[in-house]
Amino acid sequence: MKRGTVYLVGAGPGDPDLLTVKAKRVLEKADAVIYDRLINKKILSYAGKDAEFIYVGKTPGNHALSQENINELLVKKAREDNVVVRLKGGDPFVFGRGGEEALYLVDHGCDFEIVPGVTSAIAVPAYAGIPVTHRESASSFSVITGHEKPGKKESSIPWNALSRETDTLVFLMGMGNIAFIVEQLTAKGKDCNTPVALVRCGTLPEQEILSGTLGNIVQKVNESSFQPPAVLIVGEVVKLREKLSWAEKRPLWGKRIVVTRPQAQAGSLVEKITERGGVVVELPVIEIVKEKDLQKLQYMIENLQDFDWVLFTSVNAVDIFFREMAVQMLDARIFKGISVGAIGPVTGHRLKQYGLLTDLIPRQYSAEGIIEALKKHIQPGQNILLPRAQGARTILPEELKALGATIEEIALYRAATSPDISQEAAADIRQGNIDMITFTSSSTVSAFVDIIGKEHVRTVDATAVVACIGPITADTARAAGFGVDIVAEKYTIEGLVEAIVREVKR
Ligand code: SAH
Repeated sequence: MKRGTVYLVGAGPGDPDLLTVKAKRVLEKADAVIYDRLINKKILSYAGKDAEFIYVGKTPGNHALSQENINELLVKKAREDNVVVRLKGGDPFVFGRGGEEALYLVDHGCDFEIVPGVTSAIAVPAYAGIPVTHRESASSFSVITGHEKPGKKESSIPWNALSRETDTLVFLMGMGNIAFIVEQLTAKGKDCNTPVALVRCGTLPEQEILSGTLGNIVQKVNESSFQPPAVLIVGEVVKLREKLSWAEKRPLWGKRIVVTRPQAQAGSLVEKITERGGVVVELPVIEIVKEKDLQKLQYMIENLQDFDWVLFTSVNAVDIFFREMAVQMLDARIFKGISVGAIGPVTGHRLKQYGLLTDLIPRQYSAEGIIEALKKHIQPGQNILLPRAQGARTILPEELKALGATIEEIALYRAATSPDISQEAAADIRQGNIDMITFTSSSTVSAFVDIIGKEHVRTVDATAVVACIGPITADTARAAGFGVDIVAEKYTIEGLVEAIVREVKR
């Protein structure tokens, strides 16, 4: 990316995964990001921490910064030799004032590039199951601003032609003016029975659709609490929705699901819920606190060859262990001749990323599973190293001792209740404004209760389904006063999501 250049970038219609690869690349290199309203946080997070973020969005009727000021800001930032990203919803050249900004840049001698985005004019209908063209019913479509004020003397919108000559009409910014739009179209001859759909927050989990005909949509809007931003689609293609609606058919559609994992590990769960149409309420209730004094670990690493087995029971333990090895300038070669076990495939995969293959992953991903699997392999007198969390269950060392092994346990970290969580999310949960809570370890259960307060457990439990990753977590949840509705059969994030989907379908 070139310094001193302004990139006019489309951020897509809402779903952060609809960002283009180029937009992401430009953001990663940005020094300054000048962005509008409704830009997803995940998209902004692609820019580095050192980038300067400047919000210039406007709420209807309230400009945070005038267009002239925005133009000047772009020039100023470019002249300071920054990589400037001007981020806009949808596509910058579709009702995005991208053209105006580009002209201003040219007139002031600044370099610019356009990074087109997925426009809401096409993507929002698509997420509602409406193709804007279709061989039998629509061979053309128009995208029109609905923002033109009714009082305007000369309309610049060719209502006549629109009513008679294009098949599909897509109005952006039309909510405030819907009665006027309908009146113009019907007055110019568009049939009152033409199907129409209003789609708000399209491509997002909050997506809502109101459908009807030109004849009755205004009344429907007045009777409902339908709010902008919305796209209005007029035309025969709207009917295809009956068969083609897909977004709402995803299994977790519209379900508000709490994810309690620490943010760093929540990724795959958040992704799996979102892909299935669910709305994730992130409440990372625990944080992983590394032990301050890792001397014992250093000692064990130096003397690793004294051990016959090393058993890893979490990804956290693997990370801390290998980071400490790196401090000592050591790598996977120190495991030569030593057998390595992992509690489950995810921990096994993390070991593999550090160059270490596992000798044992139990069939059941729990301490009990490891014991069962190790029985065949352990000889009395063997030494086993168990690097894990402080306060972890004692069953694993006890049972291994009973098999005649010598166990060396080191506490590498502990799961502490997170000090700063979103109060908004916590309040939502207390008020019963959620459908499901997921617990991925016993420590998430206790920290969750700490955060929402014991006195709220009963109300939360009455309104939300409780889903646990495995039987131990489920026991902890029951002991805390929850009625557990879902327990995964496979004790992984994947297993948890499978169990949730199965239950929801039922
Ligand atoms: N440049 C943008 C459009 C900006 S005008 C683009 O290409 O998409 C803003 C209007 O776009 C809103 O008033 C609304 O009509 C529409 N819009 C944008 N995102 C939307 C969404 N996720 N759901 C419904 N309408 C949306």
